[in-house]
Amino acid sequence: MTDSLGTAARCIVVGGSLVGLSAAIALSRVGFQVTVAERSPAPATESGGGLGVDVPLLHEATGIGADPPVLHGVDRDGTAWHLLQGWLEEHATGLPLVSIRRGTEVTAVDPGDPERSAKVHTAHGDTFKADLVIGADGARSTVRGTVDPRHPDASYAGVLLWRTLADEQAMPRGVALPAAGEPAREVYAGPYRLVTYPVPGPAGETAVGHRRLNLVWYDPEQRELLHEAGLLDGETVHGSLAPGALPDPVRQRLADFAAARWPSPWSEALALALEAGTVFGTPIVQYKPARLVSGRVALAGDAAHAASPMVGGGFRQGLYDVLALAQALAGAGSPGQVPGALGVYEQARLAAAIRHVTRSERATAAYLALAARGEDR
Ligand SMILES: Cc1cc2nc3c(=O)[nH]c(=O)nc-3n(C[C@H](O)[C@H](O)[C@H](O)COP(=O)(O)OP(=O)(O)OC[C@H]3O[C@@H](n4cnc5c(N)ncnc54)[C@H](O)[C@@H]3O)c2cc1C
Repeated sequence: MTDSLGTAARCIVVGGSLVGLSAAIALSRVGFQVTVAERSPAPATESGGGLGVDVPLLHEATGIGADPPVLHGVDRDGTAWHLLQGWLEEHATGLPLVSIRRGTEVTAVDPGDPERSAKVHTAHGDTFKADLVIGADGARSTVRGTVDPRHPDASYAGVLLWRTLADEQAMPRGVALPAAGEPAREVYAGPYRLVTYPVPGPAGETAVGHRRLNLVWYDPEQRELLHEAGLLDGETVHGSLAPGALPDPVRQRLADFAAARWPSPWSEALALALEAGTVFGTPIVQYKPARLVSGRVALAGDAAHAASPMVGGGFRQGLYDVLALAQALAGAGSPGQVPGALGVYEQARLAAAIRHVTRSERATAAYLALAARGEDR
């Protein structure tokens, strides 16, 4: 898409994680000159946990023919967040119409309208004009405040996830590792739920013994800890518990419980991770949108619909957003038609986003009710 002078229309994507980079790649393919504004100054080389990837959908949404670094299991293609983010960033950086500005925090967005450009303001005091702005800035989105100022915040779902990736190479000798292709495991004990599956090693290794064990421990009993750490204000979440930030008594309680109740090799993996200080805490938040679009601004990914990983497919939903955005905007002939095209996007995705978060609310409520009874399953 070009303006009356033949210049490519300008798009700013706020957030350079999985959905932001996928959107940048897809929108450059329909003719936008895309700048990705990402708050963190450097790519993560190790951080984050694991997730399952719908590889055919990723190919379809981004047009990338190569496969991402995944471990093929019978029930999912699993990867580590930093491997997938790095892979997408490498592809985006190689495209002539995409540039990535790291260390750029967006503080506010003016949505514009069919006659006026949108404006993006940054923490450095810069203002950039754009024909299109995509808010892919995650569950605690800033851009959401522009799209729905009366309903800008996601809410705490009442569950904290303890997460880590443990190197198989560091596991004690004699501990049986999950076999190649083994499906994910889900174990319940008291109020807790543990979900586990292997993901590739730090450099994408896939051989048994060189992978990492991805652990996600659902814990409904940490509201007070989050309050004390200044991460929870009412129902609004302000951050995650970073690796190494677990108070000693909490770390000890988790270690004791893991040793007593979680099965091998996951109890050993957790013991190692708690000892090494690599366990981090992610509070689950939920956001059910009433709208996805304002003027020239659209939300995508967790910014648009934050849900519990219990219902799965958060990134998959983000890829459906990317597909719908590219399809709607490919049909816009000029920058003046962007707001109309975003209306088409909203019509295509809003109901599905609401359904996804509704499923998350129901699954979370059912889990919390069982957890309150404290019964094993
Ligand atoms: C334990 C767990 C397991 C999961 N498993 C799966 C799975 O198996 N399958 C699946 O499909 N999904 C899964 N998900 C969900 C998936 O991880 C998310 O839906 C997806 O990562 C969201 O990506 P995103 O790009 O929308 O947001 P994020 O990854 O949160 O990225 C937001 C980006 O925006 C940046 N940012 C934020 N604010 C600003 C600002 N003001 N200015 C500039 N930059 C900003 C951040 O630094 C970040 O890089 C799982 C999630 C969890 C927690």
